[in-house]
Amino acid sequence: MLHIRNLHVSYGSIHAVRDVSLTVEEGEVVTLIGSNGAGKTTTVNAICGALPAKGSIEYGGKPILGLPTHRIVEAGIAMVAEGRRIFPKLTVEQNLRMGAFSRRASRSELARDMEYVYGLFPRLAERKRQMGGTMSGGEQQMLAIGRALMAKPKLLILDEPSMGLAPIVVRDIFDTIRTIRGQGLTTLLIEQNAAMALSVADRGYVLEHGEIVHHDTAERLKSQDIVKKAYLGGS
Ligand code: ATP
Repeated sequence: MLHIRNLHVSYGSIHAVRDVSLTVEEGEVVTLIGSNGAGKTTTVNAICGALPAKGSIEYGGKPILGLPTHRIVEAGIAMVAEGRRIFPKLTVEQNLRMGAFSRRASRSELARDMEYVYGLFPRLAERKRQMGGTMSGGEQQMLAIGRALMAKPKLLILDEPSMGLAPIVVRDIFDTIRTIRGQGLTTLLIEQNAAMALSVADRGYVLEHGEIVHHDTAERLKSQDIVKKAYLGGS
């Protein structure tokens, strides 16, 4: 579904992403893990058309590299950005409606999709009229994911959903990712929290200094010594 080949991204003289190749097939959850500054967000921004890049990115068999972000969203890719950029001055419900902005959905479809999101995140249902900006970090992350789901994406990209959240909240968010996965939504999950990411993913790629240094099934990555030592806090 998503085929990235030989991707390079530079910021002036900083070569942040080097020759990255990565695929996500329909129905898969694929994770891209790596530590701070490895180039994860840069890769995501290149996929979403937010940064100039070299190489090739195909989605559904068509080249998308260089397309404006709105065309990429219309093609069925929804991204939850790092730092969850929800609209702080809009209510939960208004934020969710904004997620469906690029679709031509009827009132009843919107209502049904909203109920689906509220079913995934009951906490949001309890807070429909609360301003986004007054929600806790975990609730804002739920809202950001809910808003992306309102676009009815074929491919969901999550950029570090665990960032800055307490372990118990991270577990909640990952339980929901597991539920979404069970419903067959293709997902690219960018994470620093390798243990959580590999627990929900089918396959994973490890990015270091802008380069993919390992890729394998999540099961095998979890048991590789080098991944265990560097990312899973053990030997
Ligand atoms: P983090 O988890 O901290 O966000 P990351 O893996 O997402 O890390 P990137 O944000 O993609 O990493 O950064 C990759 C490299 O590119 C880093 O060395 C970073 O300093 C550099 N970089 C990122 N954005 C810019 C920018 N706008 N201008 C210059 N250098 C940048």
